[in-house]
Amino acid sequence: MEGLALATPTGTALMDFAFTPQHEQVRDTVARFCAEHVAPLVAAAEEVEIFPKDLFRKWGELGLIGVRYPESDGGAGFDKISDCIVREEMSRVCQAFASSWSAHAHLALWPLWRIGTPDQKARFFRPGLVGEKVGGFGLSEPDGGSDVRMLKTRATKVDGGWRLDGSKLYITNAPMADFLLVAARTGADHSDDAISLFIVDLPNPGFEISRLKKEAIRGSETGLIHIADAFVPDDCLLGGRTGTYRVVLESLAENRVGVSANCLGMARGAFEAALAYARTRIVRGRPIIEYQAIAHKLADMAADIEAAKWMVYYGAWRVDQGAIDPATASRVKLIASETAVRVTEQAIRIHGGAGLMREYPVGRFHRDSLVYVIGEGTSEIQRNIIARALKAGG
Ligand SMILES: Cc1cc2nc3c(=O)[nH]c(=O)nc-3n(C[C@H](O)[C@H](O)[C@H](O)COP(=O)(O)OP(=O)(O)OC[C@H]3O[C@@H](n4cnc5c(N)ncnc54)[C@H](O)[C@@H]3O)c2cc1C
Repeated sequence: MEGLALATPTGTALMDFAFTPQHEQVRDTVARFCAEHVAPLVAAAEEVEIFPKDLFRKWGELGLIGVRYPESDGGAGFDKISDCIVREEMSRVCQAFASSWSAHAHLALWPLWRIGTPDQKARFFRPGLVGEKVGGFGLSEPDGGSDVRMLKTRATKVDGGWRLDGSKLYITNAPMADFLLVAARTGADHSDDAISLFIVDLPNPGFEISRLKKEAIRGSETGLIHIADAFVPDDCLLGGRTGTYRVVLESLAENRVGVSANCLGMARGAFEAALAYARTRIVRGRPIIEYQAIAHKLADMAADIEAAKWMVYYGAWRVDQGAIDPATASRVKLIASETAVRVTEQAIRIHGGAGLMREYPVGRFHRDSLVYVIGEGTSEIQRNIIARALKAGG
């Protein structure tokens, strides 16, 4: 008993679930920005399947692209928790735009920030932070989505640079990007060291990019890329060295926590719409929230969201502590992404027929929620990573 009494004060001090005033301010600012400047763009972008590229400059002006990067490198200097708050609020309004943001602000810029040379940072990272240049990240291929180490795109050393050949599939932002970070094989074996990253300044005559039509995140542009004898100069080999795939692994672990916040935002957006609908839709003289079957659905959704929320912010806190491991990141993503699919589907059911009409947002939230049980590693791959850690005793 004495031991427990002694342990309590320390334990209490460590278990602090409160957001700081700075976090609340970030949430407030982004929520207001999204309501005023983003929400009005959603319907048109979904209809024409074109991203309103000017939004990147607006995000840049507000410091939202660099939220997570140090001030010394031109960023806002905030933590991963703030990054997750930004993502949550963006996705609560529109996942398509948030996916484009994530592909640029994290997938393309993070490796540049981590290992880019001073010249590469000046040419791509800094203009990327302010939205002057938009990037994308090309890892997946027609034969290698889940099994990345099998990638076939090859880079061959030539005088003054490299020649790239291969293809990339489902690359976010590719049709509108100013540059792409492309993973290519520079070694003969299948080890991590055989893969390197190249910055491809676009347009490049060896890169033929076509736009894919999608069922989800329609307002985000996704490309198929044929790469044929594309020349990339030596100064665009990321970090000035080969064998840099490990930075991708670091980036993916952190981004799995990030996209989990996007999932949380979609779940919240759909839940809020369903709650409002249930309060106002009258059937047999009563708002449908008065029917226990509907009220219980809402109760389950609220509980699910709360559970996902604390997983996401625990993951973000671990990133901020420099202590994120792949299995934890995968657990967070598995829970948050599957929660988003469940919650958004229930939101459609609560809407009845209206749930399948475009004038209501819940159908879009549900379609979009499927993106993160697939992208950034499918749920099956997350389970494989978690299971591998369990087998190893982690
Ligand atoms: C909208 C969208 C945007 C994307 N943006 C990008 C981007 O910007 N950059 C980029 O590089 N990639 C991007 N991707 C690609 C994405 O990461 C891949 O689609 C994803 O990794 C799955 O790969 P795949 O599509 O080849 O599926 P496959 O690997 O063919 O998988 C098919 C099925 O088999 C299962 N499976 C595969 N291997 C295993 C296994 N070992 N154990 C159990 N089950 C398994 C999968 O879980 C899945 O259910 C994007 C995808 C989408 C849909």
